[in-house]
Formats: sequence, C-alpha cells, structure tokens
Amino acid sequence: MEAHKTVTRSVDNLVHNNVDTGADRAIAEAAELIRNGEVVAFPTETVYGLGGDATSDEAIRRIFEAKGRPADNPLIVHVASIEDAARWTLTLPKTAKDLMAAFWPGPLTIVLPHNGTLSGAVTAGLPTVGLRMPDHPVALRLIEASGRPLAAPSGNRSGRPSPTEAAHVEEDLNGRIPMILDGGPAGVGLESTVVEVTDGQVTVLRPGGVTLEALREVAEHVAIDPSLLKSDEAPRSPGMKYTHYAPDVPLYLVEGELAALKQAIRKAKEDGLLTGAIIVNEWAGLTGAHQEVSVGSETDLAAVGRELYRALRQFKTGEVDMLLVCTFPETELGGAIMNRLEKASGGKKARL
Ligand code: AMP
Ligand code: MG
Repeated sequence: MEAHKTVTRSVDNLVHNNVDTGADRAIAEAAELIRNGEVVAFPTETVYGLGGDATSDEAIRRIFEAKGRPADNPLIVHVASIEDAARWTLTLPKTAKDLMAAFWPGPLTIVLPHNGTLSGAVTAGLPTVGLRMPDHPVALRLIEASGRPLAAPSGNRSGRPSPTEAAHVEEDLNGRIPMILDGGPAGVGLESTVVEVTDGQVTVLRPGGVTLEALREVAEHVAIDPSLLKSDEAPRSPGMKYTHYAPDVPLYLVEGELAALKQAIRKAKEDGLLTGAIIVNEWAGLTGAHQEVSVGSETDLAAVGRELYRALRQFKTGEVDMLLVCTFPETELGGAIMNRLEKASGGKKARL
C-alpha cells in the first residue's frame, strides 16, 4: 500500500453556484492524476465514489487496495454520455437505450455484455459490465477532463457505510489516496439501482435511487432478482454476498414503530446495555435511548435516504453498545433503504 498525503479540494462553488473559480483547476488536477493511473475520490448524486481509469489495470488495482475490496466484486464504470457507454458494450439493446434515455444522467446502473476493451479487473472477469452516467456536474466534468471512463465504487473502506460527505471519505481513506474533491453532501445518499438487461427483461440486482415503480413506467418486464428476496440463493450481483454498510456498533432491526422501539430499548436497558436509536424527527426525545440520531420526517423517505449513512457513521464504539432502527415501508425509496438496513444489521432483529 503506497502512502499518500491526502489533499481535499473544494468544488462546492461549481455545485451550488455554477461558478468555476478554483473548481476547474481542482478538477484538472484530479483528471491529471486519473490519466497517470492514480485514484481520486469525487462527489456524485448517489454517494462519493473512488474513481480510476477503467482501462488501466494499475488504477483498478489501486482502487481495490485503497478500499480493501474483495477482488471478485466488480466495479461500476461511469461515463459522461450514452454514446460513451456504447464504446464499451458489445450491443446496446433497445430496452437499455430506453432506460438510459429515461434515467441518465441519474442513479441507474445498467449491466450489459462488454466488448473486452476495459481492464479485466473492473469486471472481476465477468462477461458483463455495469455502466452509469452520474447526475453531478463534478463527476461529469472529471470524466470529460480525464477523457477516460471512470471505474468507481463507493469511496469507503470495504464493509463500511458509503460516504455521503467528503469528511466520510477522509475518515476511511486518509493517507491511502492522493485527492478528494469536496462537493458538499450527496443529494440521494443511497447507491444507484443496479439492473441487468437481457432479451427485453430488466432484472433488479440492487435496489437504489431509481425505484421499481419508476422502472416499470419505462420497461415492460421488470423483476427483482430472486436472491434479493430469498437469502439462500447465490447472489447474481457479486457484491451482494459481502457485509456492507456496517456501523461500528451492532445494529438491530425493530419490526414496528415507536411503541416497539421503546419496548426494545427497555429490554436492552434491563440487560445493562447503552442503546443508540436511528429515529424519525417525530420521535425525538420519546424513545428512551441513550443517544438518538434523526434521519428526517417519517413522511419524507428521500430525506431518510439522504441521511441514513451519516446516521450510521455517527454511533461510536464505547458510547453505545447496540444500535436500533425501525423498519420502513418498502414502497418507493423504502425498498432501497430497507435493503441497506438488512445488510447493515446482518438481518439481526431486536428482542421485544
Ligand atoms: P459499489 O461499487 O459499492 O457501488 O457496488 C457496485 C455493485 O454493482 C456491486 O453490488 C456489484 O456487485 C454490482 N455490479 C457491478 N458490476 C456488475 C456486473 N457486471 N454484474 C453484476 N453486478 C455488478
Ligand atoms: Mg460500496
């Protein structure tokens, strides 16, 4: 592992005021690093990514090394246009084009057969590649300025919650990468939806920022991969089998709402445990937990998505012994939220 002095450069002005001053220079420096086979953390609308040249074996090796990511978990390749995506695929079926037209730029990754011109390490030896065009001015400019497709997983140490702020990337990767572009907090806060497209059939491999309901408005045949429904099936999206999003403190799911949460906290207290609770605004001060962190109003699932990883990172070993969170309805963004909570908790349920 090479040691780096990690430099964080603000590109916030470009994101919020559409002013280039400073941001353009920072992006040009980042692009130069990318062209030299280095890796750079950058903001996208979903979460912060750790990007490198998807055609360079050396860059991909650096991404896996900095994250400590298992080598059989492929990376998503980020492009700046639909034409850009077509450079790396064998074919572009009509269903894929329809999805791109409807959701790009945006939080949808489309898995298609690749034409063998990307680094083999990006796709972990699979015949397919996951492609996405991010909806973020910094990400798009970085791809354009480097002139390379950017392989980019989330910019966290493997197994940890994804970073939704530059400070989260610093927490995990300081000293392991040369540069972080800081564009402020991510707008969606959850990773992209990953779909595979074969013969007009769209299969959701990972729920995310684009909901099932939205996909069904564009494509006729949309199904959820069986491995998402039953945990005993072998995962089709290789990343799905690994621990993900895990907070420092063990997380338990509570089936129910405030009353159930209060009961679970009471039980934990009887056992002498200090509890942390991830709550909605409406429950502030009512749970009896030692530490509460709110993720927004119960009526606003978009806010919950945006705040979830920040909340998971806030609870520290030594301050609380166990972390509790209630289940959310699985409609709209709730599907992705519950998918992440299932993984972050490893499926553990609180005793009521
Ligand atoms: P992350 O990089 O952490 O956002 O994770 C990317 C997700 O996309 C992982 O779950 C990968 O397994 C999945 N993925 C990427 N490429 C492919 C592919 N070619 N086939 C199936 N899943 C993929
Ligand atoms: Mg990730």
